[in-house]
Amino acid sequence: MEKAILSKSTFIRGLQCEKSLYLYKHNYNLRDVASPQLQAIFSQGTNVGLLAQGLFPEGVDASPENYYEMAKSVVKTLQFIKDGEQIIYEATFQYNGVIVALDILVKDQYGWRAYEVKSSTSVSDTYIMDAAIQYYTIVNSGIDLKDISIVHINNQYVKDGDIDIHELFSVESVYDKVLEVLPSIPNQIARFKTVIAQKEVPVMDIGSHCNNPYSCDFKGQCWNHIPDYSIFNISRLTADKKFELYQNGVINFDQLDLSTAPLNEKQQVQVISELEQKTFIDKPNIQHFVNNLEYPIYHLDFETMTAAVPIYNNSRPYQQLVFQYSLHIEKQNGEITHKEYLAEANPNLDPRDAFVKQLIEDCGTYGDVLVYNIGFERGKLNDLMALYPQYTFEINNIIIRLKDLMTPFQKKWYYSPKMIGSYSIKYVLPALVPELSYQDLEIKEGGTASNTFTQMVIGTFQGDIEKTRKDLLEYCKMDTFAMVKILEKLKTIV
Ligand code: SF4
Repeated sequence: MEKAILSKSTFIRGLQCEKSLYLYKHNYNLRDVASPQLQAIFSQGTNVGLLAQGLFPEGVDASPENYYEMAKSVVKTLQFIKDGEQIIYEATFQYNGVIVALDILVKDQYGWRAYEVKSSTSVSDTYIMDAAIQYYTIVNSGIDLKDISIVHINNQYVKDGDIDIHELFSVESVYDKVLEVLPSIPNQIARFKTVIAQKEVPVMDIGSHCNNPYSCDFKGQCWNHIPDYSIFNISRLTADKKFELYQNGVINFDQLDLSTAPLNEKQQVQVISELEQKTFIDKPNIQHFVNNLEYPIYHLDFETMTAAVPIYNNSRPYQQLVFQYSLHIEKQNGEITHKEYLAEANPNLDPRDAFVKQLIEDCGTYGDVLVYNIGFERGKLNDLMALYPQYTFEINNIIIRLKDLMTPFQKKWYYSPKMIGSYSIKYVLPALVPELSYQDLEIKEGGTASNTFTQMVIGTFQGDIEKTRKDLLEYCKMDTFAMVKILEKLKTIV
């Protein structure tokens, strides 16, 4: 068997960018290191794929021992078909230099049907192309496919008892859409083979394709002429406008013509602040914000976990579930006390049950509840209210007391060049309170906290659980202590 040149994933890579395809084939080691978050997404995808096999149970598995032995899976798959097998997992086919492994191949009374499993909640254009390259390879290998479907997560599913995989997954035929794009597939394969056979790296400038449909893992190579802080960091400027500036030769702020650049007022504040190294302070608005706070102030922050396959009853796929909070209570006389909650990491113990009770107790009945990014905490409180109607009054009492410490920074009432265009607390803190830092903490951001706790719950966490629980507490405590200090700084400013 001739050696395959393209796989399903390299085909999709080629559609995104020919240079990425070339580098992947010739300079694989230059790829950026995958973040722990990305690795968690990959392993989640594998688990979802295995679970979906339950939709068609008792199949035979054509999986290779390892990625480099996929050719053996082609032989195995053909043998399974000859032997009359009706359900084949990881059915692998090769044609015209392309090798593909389909998640589930099923034969029923009408013929063969293909199922590709995705851990996302809808079918994207990329998935259609993914299905099309599979359809092309399978059909040309002599299998008369009657249908091809994407199996994806149904985000409306609510767990109630054991997981019902027939409810958890939605099966969506993409047969008609695949037939529409099928005529383009042979030309694309030929084009990608030519790209791979080239002696030189294809010339391809950076563009919006670097993040679409996936964040490219060769940015470390292609983006190294862009400084850490550039027009690409202008807050809320669309990718199209950024690349339009870039194509006109503008990378650094000092190359911008502010009279013509497509920037709104807040974006201009960011640029001028950087160019003149000047801090903008809108004292009247900050003063109004600070003076309208009602004591005691409850500085509150939630951490949430999420899983593609819901772990707890009354939760949906990918729903963000609260498992931890930190609360600094600040009295008008300056006295500060700290309270916190961190759930037990146990798949049989819903973290929200004890969370809601302790939160209600800790938040008292009067005084503002200050959060950073109100939409997040308000959304989680509304979820809790829907889940625990018996606490409607108490939770609503917290919701109506919410105020957002992010507002002065989001509205640019305070903007320092040190915030480099961001109003996230991770950038606001070092700008206002440089002596306080997340850098010394073991857990430095919410994504890591979320993944860590989720891994503890499902039993895949490898590490010192007791120490890591302390790290989680330290991290969340820092978030609300940072809020106390940021507010203190705002008070001194006005
Ligand atoms: S970073 Fe952009 S230009 Fe470079 S290989 Fe990736 S997609 Fe292509």
